[in-house]
Amino acid sequence: MRAWAEINLDNLTYNIEKIREFSQNRDIMAIIKADAYGMGAVTIAEELSLLGIENFGVSSLEEGIELRQHNIQGNILILAGIYNDEIYGVKEYNLQVAVTNFSQLELFKNHKEIPLHLKVDTGMGRVGFKEKDALKALEYAKENNLNLVGVYSHLSVADEPGKDNELYTLHQLEIFNTFENEEKLKYRHILNSGGILKYSHVGNSNLVRAGIILYGLYGEGNIKELKRVFTLKSRVLFLKEIEEEMDISYGRIGKAHKGDMIGTISIGYADGFRREFSNNGTVEILGEKCPVIGKVCMDMTMVRIPEKIKKLVKVGQEVIVMGEDIYEKSKSINISVYEMFTGLSRRVSRVYI
Ligand code: PLP
Repeated sequence: MRAWAEINLDNLTYNIEKIREFSQNRDIMAIIKADAYGMGAVTIAEELSLLGIENFGVSSLEEGIELRQHNIQGNILILAGIYNDEIYGVKEYNLQVAVTNFSQLELFKNHKEIPLHLKVDTGMGRVGFKEKDALKALEYAKENNLNLVGVYSHLSVADEPGKDNELYTLHQLEIFNTFENEEKLKYRHILNSGGILKYSHVGNSNLVRAGIILYGLYGEGNIKELKRVFTLKSRVLFLKEIEEEMDISYGRIGKAHKGDMIGTISIGYADGFRREFSNNGTVEILGEKCPVIGKVCMDMTMVRIPEKIKKLVKVGQEVIVMGEDIYEKSKSINISVYEMFTGLSRRVSRVYI
């Protein structure tokens, strides 16, 4: 194998128990959109089902169908809502849908069996009813006997530090309070990973939507009480001792000097090891940090092997491309840690341990 994501399911199990504690025993909806953030939605859903998770969130009809085709039994909510022409797919695969506007409410009048979650926009500014309209939508759903099973909203800065963000989140939670007291609705949810960590003491919601926290992280880094689930690995493909100064890789921005040992590892930007790491990142071999030299290529990356391990490294040697340092790596190239996960490509094997 040239590059693989090692996914530790024992640690996922551990994290679920902790998330139950953090969220004060609210039920958990596992957000497994985008192929469970790159971890493999089907396997993650299977594992979580064994742990008693009965609610899953996906972003599209296709993602919901994939889970059903692999026999995932729990409730599956399409968080982004659907296009009108997708309604028959929703029925066929027994999915739940976010309803985000009045024209959709009307559509569901003719499909009263579909379970709906009303989406309230408390400040995310993406999809959903503003507060006043949401109250009307609730009435409309009641009058027309729609199968409204839930109400929810989404926090936009719960995971970001600072007083302003805290006040904004508390304001969102306060708006949602009007809706989460609709106790006739089975599911009332607003807390995402940041929310679970910092705001579980607030409000009357009874379900949390856990995404990245499943893997031991949130938007601001590793969560020390949780365990790491994900490690990206590769192997040394080629080694060379440098006899005279030479350029390394495209664009000639990498320089190797006499006496250096340069290893080529078999991972590149087409795997999700981004080009921004060119001359600007490290990988770990035998416990030592090895700096990336030159541009990251599509399938390969060159690194300098430190003196200490020069004699020990062999072709085939395992390389930790990212693990504990995934958050720092994302920061160093100015992207969110979410993108580090979701950017992993299909050709990276997923290995469950
Ligand atoms: N709920 C909704 C509607 C989302 O869009 C997302 C992710 O983007 C989540 C929950 C999960 O967020 P997180 O991974 O921060 O827990």
